[in-house]
Amino acid sequence: MKKRKNNLKNVDKKAIWRPFTIYDSSIRPIHIVRAKNETLFDNKGKEYLDLISSWWVNIHGHVNLSITKAIKKQLDQFDQILFTDFSHKPASDLAKKIIQVMPRDLCRIFFSDNGSTAVEVSLKIAWQYWVNLGKKRKYFLTFTGGYHGDTFGSMSVGHSSGFFDSFKDLLFQVKEVPFPHTWDRDSLVNKKEKESFKRLEHILRNNSSNIAAFICEPIVQGSSGMRVCRPSFMKKIVQRIKKENIPVIFDEVMTGFGRTGQMFAYQKIGINPDIICLSKGLTGGALPLGLTICSNRISKVFESDDPKKMLPHGHSYTANPISCSAAVASLDLFKSKQIFKKIKMIENIHRKRINDLSNLECVERTRVIGLIAVFEVKGVSKNYGSEFARNLKHKFLRRGLIIRPLGNVVYLMPPYCIKPKNLHRSYDIIIALLSNC
Ligand SMILES: *Cc1c(COP(=O)(O)O)cnc(C)c1O
Repeated sequence: MKKRKNNLKNVDKKAIWRPFTIYDSSIRPIHIVRAKNETLFDNKGKEYLDLISSWWVNIHGHVNLSITKAIKKQLDQFDQILFTDFSHKPASDLAKKIIQVMPRDLCRIFFSDNGSTAVEVSLKIAWQYWVNLGKKRKYFLTFTGGYHGDTFGSMSVGHSSGFFDSFKDLLFQVKEVPFPHTWDRDSLVNKKEKESFKRLEHILRNNSSNIAAFICEPIVQGSSGMRVCRPSFMKKIVQRIKKENIPVIFDEVMTGFGRTGQMFAYQKIGINPDIICLSKGLTGGALPLGLTICSNRISKVFESDDPKKMLPHGHSYTANPISCSAAVASLDLFKSKQIFKKIKMIENIHRKRINDLSNLECVERTRVIGLIAVFEVKGVSKNYGSEFARNLKHKFLRRGLIIRPLGNVVYLMPPYCIKPKNLHRSYDIIIALLSNC
């Protein structure tokens, strides 16, 4: 008994398994005791600027008062209610508000718990769409390097992100179009786009009537290294795929809610998908929630009294009322025009300071889109969790900055509330750290 108690002193190290974290017995996690806006405070009084919005979720910053107020109010009324024969105002309010910001024909919403499930549901819907029509199909079409989450379906369509090699034998087959990743002053972008098209045409020629759906991260591939393509390219690709009547899924789990400078990336591209997946910023980072929103064309194929045509999917916490109330409050914050002015202002700071960074010897391939600023470090390992990436992360942490390089890719994705002086200070630190690399 006594021994066990002693062990638990070290519970953080011994009992807790961290996400996407390479085992290192010497690392001690930083204990956070408070958070406000862009700042985290640890138990020793040290402050950290959260420059990646805690894995891209805290769009309005931490502990936003209108979101916490909505949560507290909902908690006093009711908690989880099974979502089969019952409904509630937080879910219907959220549905109403989401439909208002979606493309016109996307009007049927499925609730789940996170980004991976939002994607998993979209894949199952697209697959069963064809099954219900009696025309079963065989493949999904994606971009190389996409990442869509960690469940088996989302791993399959995101296998080339490079994270899931251990599971290779269990993943289903996908067809892939190369992603014409580009950056500032990239002279080869037209050539890369042309090659993507050529590959797409080849795939369509041989498999068009066997593709269940096309899924992609619109404009920015996040986890595989903040890889950006031109919106005009996305538009052309999606138009071409839609011409074949293949349903198009936009995984806007990361790009949603202002990240690319507009509310959603589909608006930046100027074309509507058939299904959109949302999560991450949906509740402003307060609580987990995922949504899969479908067009009428897709959902009506499920509207049947034949039990076989029902979508056999659902989670215990479907449409959690507290999460929904947080999402409603977060969406309401976007009513203020101020937010998009703020986003533009941050984008301008990013552009100016990323340009400063591009003068450094070891910096290349800079790119800025909306709130996301990216650069790559030359001549170091590109692998996720490389020694270089881990060392750099620790150097940033010691100086009070939360930045997690993806291999040689360093990016900032701060919450909208970040003070310009804090953003400038962060760039000053980054430049000082990298000027002798
Ligand atoms: C993070 C992410 C996911 C997975 O979301 P989780 O909530 O981590 O399961 C899916 N797609 C994209 C584009 C993401 O960035």
